[in-house]
Amino acid sequence: MDRAKGLGAGASGLPAGLAAPHVSPDDNVLSRITRAGVQATLQRAQTLLHSGTDWGLTGVLEHNVGGKRRRPPNPNGSDSSALASPAQIAAAGLPLGTPALWHAQAGWIRPHQLVAAQLQTPGVQVLWGQGVHSLERIGAEWTVRDAKGQPLGQAPWVVVASAFDSLGLLQPLPGFAVPLNPLRGQISFGHTTDLSAHERRLLPPFPVNGHGSFISGVPTPEGTPGWFIGSTFERQCEQAPVRLEDHEANRLRLSTLLPALGEAMTAQFDPARVQGWAGVRCTLPNRLPAVGHIDPERLPGLCLSAGMGARGISLSVLCGELLAADLNHDPLPLPPELSRHVRAERYANPA
Ligand SMILES: Cc1cc2nc3c(=O)[nH]c(=O)nc-3n(C[C@H](O)[C@H](O)[C@H](O)COP(=O)(O)OP(=O)(O)OC[C@H]3O[C@@H](n4cnc5c(N)ncnc54)[C@H](O)[C@@H]3O)c2cc1C
Repeated sequence: MDRAKGLGAGASGLPAGLAAPHVSPDDNVLSRITRAGVQATLQRAQTLLHSGTDWGLTGVLEHNVGGKRRRPPNPNGSDSSALASPAQIAAAGLPLGTPALWHAQAGWIRPHQLVAAQLQTPGVQVLWGQGVHSLERIGAEWTVRDAKGQPLGQAPWVVVASAFDSLGLLQPLPGFAVPLNPLRGQISFGHTTDLSAHERRLLPPFPVNGHGSFISGVPTPEGTPGWFIGSTFERQCEQAPVRLEDHEANRLRLSTLLPALGEAMTAQFDPARVQGWAGVRCTLPNRLPAVGHIDPERLPGLCLSAGMGARGISLSVLCGELLAADLNHDPLPLPPELSRHVRAERYANPA
């Protein structure tokens, strides 16, 4: 059930984003979970999406902006993230010697296409325009109701996956304590055909990440090839208007990430020219999502899949698989020492 009339009403309406691993000097939990998530997403994309129009396994260059202390988690070369080669750094238009990593198992995805393709799975039925207002456990089943108190459905299991809006729905229930937060973000984008020949020559042939991210050659919502730079971060904002000042923030972001391109593209950020898209991410304090049973004792059968933060493309497929494995008592797609870090149950208060 989704209260929207169709696909992409939430953050997954993002025109284009990256599936790329997180790296840390000690290969921490977030890095290991994100790597597993990216792998799950890329496999799903390979099976369901059209390469070149819906997604691209291009590899991603990570410009180590500001020399933050980062290195490949596995410098012996058995990992898919390595130091970027001089040729890759040059292809991005960055000066030789720029600190950068190359993620081979990474690329861009249009989340709208990924969601649409997954909803075609046999057995999935979507009820659009069904805003859930409350949840109540009656006997062994949950009843979900609309704003007028009318029942919309009943089931022994319910999975709430409505991002930050999950909070309003779940907060009235006894013991619910998952600290979901809103984090608004905006990307700026435009059509590649509107760029000058000089600007087009400077476009990197793969996405560049590191201080926000830049993607080009990916279809815009209108279908023509575009460029995209994002994203801004605005805490405690539950609305998603497009703001002029965020275009300026994204222009500055591009100037830091890819200085030559940023300088050349200054005029593209003219308010009369640039386009924007904004959405509200749902975050949790440790940047890991909350998946599965919320509190099996007090809220049996009630599950969550939310808190994807700025990494929903990299995490949501893995979260879906974790949830399905859990509910079906199948082997988990993550080792227990990692899966415990994403369990919604980690926030359950003792009864
Ligand atoms: C500017 C920006 C850039 C981003 N870039 C990247 C990126 O490069 N890489 C990456 O991995 N991630 C990125 N993200 C994050 C990613 O988009 C999100 O993590 C992901 O889309 C979240 O998916 P979701 O399904 O949890 O939530 P959403 O896509 O927000 O979906 C929530 C759904 O719940 C529905 N809903 C809400 N309340 C109710 C209700 N009461 N009843 C019924 N339905 C309801 C809504 O209509 C909506 O369809 C970005 C996000 C933003 C905003």
